[in-house]
Amino acid sequence: MRVLLLGGTAEARQLAGLLVADGHTVITSLAGRTSTPLLPPGEVRIGGFGGVDGLVAYLRDSRVDVLVDATHPFAATMTEHAVAAGRASGVPLKILRRPGWTAGPGDEWHRVASLTAAATLLPRLGRRVFLTTGRQGIAAFAHLDECWFLARSVEPPGTPAPRHLSVLLDRGPFTMDAERRLMLDHRIDVLLTKDSGGSDAKLAAARALTLPVLMINRPPPPPVPLFPTPYAIALALR
Ligand code: NAP
Repeated sequence: MRVLLLGGTAEARQLAGLLVADGHTVITSLAGRTSTPLLPPGEVRIGGFGGVDGLVAYLRDSRVDVLVDATHPFAATMTEHAVAAGRASGVPLKILRRPGWTAGPGDEWHRVASLTAAATLLPRLGRRVFLTTGRQGIAAFAHLDECWFLARSVEPPGTPAPRHLSVLLDRGPFTMDAERRLMLDHRIDVLLTKDSGGSDAKLAAARALTLPVLMINRPPPPPVPLFPTPYAIALALR
């Protein structure tokens, strides 16, 4: 089958490998947000489609048999477009969505619905913040002069940015020990993150250090069945 795989995540790369090994023709689509993306097996195209209509046209022109959305759980617009384009074109859609995180015994997690709500609550939880919401989220905290931020992202953040900001350009995976060391070295007193799911090394480190976690909830799930792992999707396409 010809599969259009909407990517930009480690799971999408893993899924591309599984599908290529199964003999499918895989075109991974990347938004083009990072300057040096990690490339998956198979073909790759980069850049937006131009909305739902553009995606429908691409599905038709490239004779795509199956559309797979393996974008990040917070890439809600792309997922919304995939659902609409799947309906409009009749091309079947499968969505890979890794499960979110769940607090365990002893965790002090504060869940909020948005970056704005997080910015309101943050100064009450701590002053030395480990920010892992990605560079697009940093602007929401730009007015918090009372906080110091260690922001980790793949690409440098833009503006506006907080006055007291140290940027760490890095890409996972990270180990629990390294995350713990990083938080201790920077005297972090609160972890700010999104409920992305996947590796929970930073959450385990925060737990070990008894730090509070400010967690931004996911956007509402798309109105279609979700596959939790790359293997589940690969199996469904056999
Ligand atoms: P978004 O807000 O949901 O999408 C905005 C627009 O970007 C879409 O309408 C589409 O443009 C284009 N786009 C997004 N993903 C695309 C893809 N895989 N291929 C082609 N075009 C794509 O997306 P976002 O949150 O900015 O995320 C962009 C990419 O980064 C996604 O692929 C996602 O998997 C990855 N990512 C996101 C996050 C996050 O926290 N949001 C974290 C890690 C990785 P058109 O309307 O022109 O088609």
